[in-house]
Amino acid sequence: MEIIGIDLGTTFSCVGIFKNNRVEIIANSQGNRTTPSCVAFTEEGRLIGEAAINQASGNPENTVSISKRYIGRRMNKSELKDKSVFHPCNLVLKGDKPFFKIICKGEKKLYSPEQISSMILVNLKKSAEDYLGKKVKNAIITVPAYFNDSQRQATKDAGEIAGLNVVRLLNEPTSAAVAYGLLNSDVDNETVLVYDFGGGTFDVTILRISNKQFTVLATGGDTKLGGEDIDTNLVRHLVEFIKNKHGVDVSINSKSMKKLRIECEKAKRMLSFSLSTTIEIPSILNGIDLKYPINVPKFVDINIEIFESTIDKIKDILECSKMKPEDINRVVLVGGSTRIPYVQKIVSEYFGDKELEKTINPDEAVALGAAIKANSISETPDNNIILYDVVPLSIGVRVKGDIISVMINRNTRIPFKATKMYTTESDNQTEVTVDVYEGVRKDIKNNHLLGKFELCNIEKAPANIPKIEITFEVDIEGILKVTATDISSGNKNFLVCNNDMNRLTNEEITSMIKEGKEFEEEEMISAKKELAREMLEIYIYKIKRKIIKDSKNVDVDLDKLKELKNITNEAIFWIENSDSLTKEDYDLKRNELIKECKFLEK
Ligand code: ADP
Ligand code: MG
Repeated sequence: MEIIGIDLGTTFSCVGIFKNNRVEIIANSQGNRTTPSCVAFTEEGRLIGEAAINQASGNPENTVSISKRYIGRRMNKSELKDKSVFHPCNLVLKGDKPFFKIICKGEKKLYSPEQISSMILVNLKKSAEDYLGKKVKNAIITVPAYFNDSQRQATKDAGEIAGLNVVRLLNEPTSAAVAYGLLNSDVDNETVLVYDFGGGTFDVTILRISNKQFTVLATGGDTKLGGEDIDTNLVRHLVEFIKNKHGVDVSINSKSMKKLRIECEKAKRMLSFSLSTTIEIPSILNGIDLKYPINVPKFVDINIEIFESTIDKIKDILECSKMKPEDINRVVLVGGSTRIPYVQKIVSEYFGDKELEKTINPDEAVALGAAIKANSISETPDNNIILYDVVPLSIGVRVKGDIISVMINRNTRIPFKATKMYTTESDNQTEVTVDVYEGVRKDIKNNHLLGKFELCNIEKAPANIPKIEITFEVDIEGILKVTATDISSGNKNFLVCNNDMNRLTNEEITSMIKEGKEFEEEEMISAKKELAREMLEIYIYKIKRKIIKDSKNVDVDLDKLKELKNITNEAIFWIENSDSLTKEDYDLKRNELIKECKFLEK
C-alpha cells in the first residue's frame, strides 16, 4: 500500500513519498516542488497551481486562493465585512457557510472551500501518479495544529472528493518535527519548539523528542496570521500612497488590486535577500504608473505588529506550559515566511540569541514529515516512528450559568476518553440538551460551539436525581465523539461533532465527487483536443518546410505549390480564428490536408 504525504498549505502545497529508504518531494508538471494552492475557472476550463496564479490578475473574480482559511468554518456577515481582515473578492455566505462565487461560461456557481481544496488535491495526486507511474489512492494530509474538529473533518471531506483515502490527518508542526528528527539522528531527549510561519497560518508547537518518539506538549498560534497578511499590509500601504500622490483609489478595481498584491508579494520575497527593491506597475489604473521604492526598515515598520504578535504567541504557549525560553533546546523554523531575516532575528533574540534550525527547506519540511509518517504506517515501513498528538483547545459542555464544564483539557494527549456524570435541573425533566464547546475561556460566549444534541426519554425523577453520563472521546485523528446516556433507562444519544450543519452532508460530498469527475472528463476532452491541435500544427509546419524546400527544385509545379501555400496559410488562420473547435474538427482538417498534400510526399 503506497501512501503519499500531502502538505495542503494555505498558499502553497507540497507532496512527498518515502521511497528506497528516503523521502522524495515530487515536482509538479512545471517542475516545481511546491504548487500554489490556487484554482481558477476560465472559458477554456479549470486551471490549478501556477497556471491559475499566472492568469489571476486578469481574472480575479474567477480565481480562488487561500480556500484553506475558510474550510470547515462558519462565518457571519459582519466577519465578512470586517475590513481589517483580508477576504477574497469572490467570497460569499450561504447561510453561515462560506463559498466562492464563480461566473464561468455564463453560469454562476458556488464552490465550497472543501471543493476548491479537493481540486488542489487532485492536482497533487496527479503529480504523484505521473511520478510513480501508477494510480495513488492513499494519503496522509497535514493540517494546522490549531484546526478544530470541523476544519479537520472538512479537510478529510476534501480528500474524499478528490478520490483519496485519507488514512490519517497529521498536525503540520508535528510533521515538520518528524522530518527534523529523522533527518538529524543526533536529536534525542530534547524539547523542540516548531515555529511555522507560512502563507496563511502561524503555528507554534512544543514537542518532546526522545528515542524517536515525538510527543506534542503544547500547541498554539493563529489560523489567521501569515505571509498573506504581510502582503495585505503592503497593499494597504500602497493604496494609501497612490491615493495621496495621485488622488485615485485603486482599491475599487479588483484587477488593479490583484496586480498590486502579486507585486507586493514579489517585493516581500526580494527583501529577504536584498536591502531594497522597487514595486513597479505600469498603468495600474487611469494611466497611473506606480513606482515605489521600499527598503527593509520600511518593510519591517509596516509589518512590525505581525512580526511581534508571533513572539507574543510564543510567550503565551510557554506560559501555558509553565516553561521558560531556556527550557527549549531547539527552535525549528518552518514555513516560507521564516525566510524573512527580521523574523529570524526576533525569534533568535527571544531565545537568548539562539542559533535557529534552518537545515530543512521550510517549504518542504511538512510534506517530508507526512511522507515519513505515511511510510511508517504503510504495510512495509522503512522506519518506526511513534507520534503523539494533543487536543488544541479545551473541550467541554455547557452547564448552569452558561459556563463550560471542561471534559478534556487543552493539550491532552490523544486518543483520549473522559466520562463525567451530570444530572437534571428541574423535577420530572425528560430531556436535556448537550451543548459541546471548545475554547479556553470559562463562559460559553467566548468559546466556539462545536455542536449540540438532545438526550430524550430520561426517566422521570426529581431534579438532581437522574444520572446522565457524558463521554468525550477523541480519536487518533483528533475527531471528537460525544455520547450522553441516561443510566437508569439506558437511553443514549451521541454526536460526532462535525455532523452539524457546518459539515457537508453525504449527498453534498457525492455530488461534489460527481462534479469533480465531470471536471476530469472535461479536462481529458480538452487534453485530447490540445493534442489533436498540436498534431495538426506539426503537420502544417512540416508541409510549409517541404514547400520551401521543393520550391528550389526545377521540375516542380509552382502553381500547385502556391496553392498549397495558400491552403496551409488558410489552415493556420482557421486554427487561430475559429471558436470552439473540437478534437474531431482538428482531426478532420488534418486528414483533409494530408489528402491535398499527398503529391508532396512523393
Ligand atoms: P503555507 O504552508 O501556509 O501555504 P508556506 O510555508 O508555503 O505557506 O509559505 C508561503 C508563504 O511564504 C507565502 O506567503 C510566501 O509569500 C512566503 N514566502 C516564500 N518565500 C519567501 C521569502 N523569500 N521571503 C518572505 N516570504 C516568503
Ligand atoms: Mg505550511
